[in-house]
Amino acid sequence: MCHVVLQDPAFFRFLCRIDEELACATRLGRCPGCGGPLHVADYPRKPRGCPAAVREEYSWRLSFTCGRCNARATPPSVRFAGRRVYLAVVLMLVSPAGSSLSQGLCELFSIPARTLKRWRRWWREDFPSTPFWQSVRERFMPPVETEQLPQGLLERFEAGARANRLVQALRFMAPLSTTPRPGNPKVAAYPQRMPIA
Ligand SMILES: [Zn+2]
Repeated sequence: MCHVVLQDPAFFRFLCRIDEELACATRLGRCPGCGGPLHVADYPRKPRGCPAAVREEYSWRLSFTCGRCNARATPPSVRFAGRRVYLAVVLMLVSPAGSSLSQGLCELFSIPARTLKRWRRWWREDFPSTPFWQSVRERFMPPVETEQLPQGLLERFEAGARANRLVQALRFMAPLSTTPRPGNPKVAAYPQRMPIA
């Protein structure tokens, strides 16, 4: 069922609108370092995992730089997962090895098996120790089992349609798309341990 969503340009455009809202909020907040005004400084991306019809809209990561101290301020995103070339929605749909869902995902976007293996490892080993997950995991009762990630997390979002549940999960995960590097706000704010690709 998720593959229907992954081929629906309307779903991907909806995620663009959410990213625009998140960017708006970041801009209104002004520079986190000095309070200066933020100017548009989007940067190019070459994402994989979206339909060709929306590729142009997905070729830019919304971002700002401060007009006073020049620090970069990149808003959270429901589309991009750190520096990964594959989109956050693809990462969210990682399934156990050997499942038909997993096979379908690999075929749809030509994801190499080793990439999928790395993502699974990230969900099981790296994600649970992120400050983000540490700070929010107690909201889930009963707890989400590490072995069940990410499906176990996705299932906790209540929604009528699969697409709505995905959107809620992506919103929830958005803070992880930009973790500022402590003490060095001028470095582009990427998550520390997001695997690339
Ligand atoms: Zn500033």
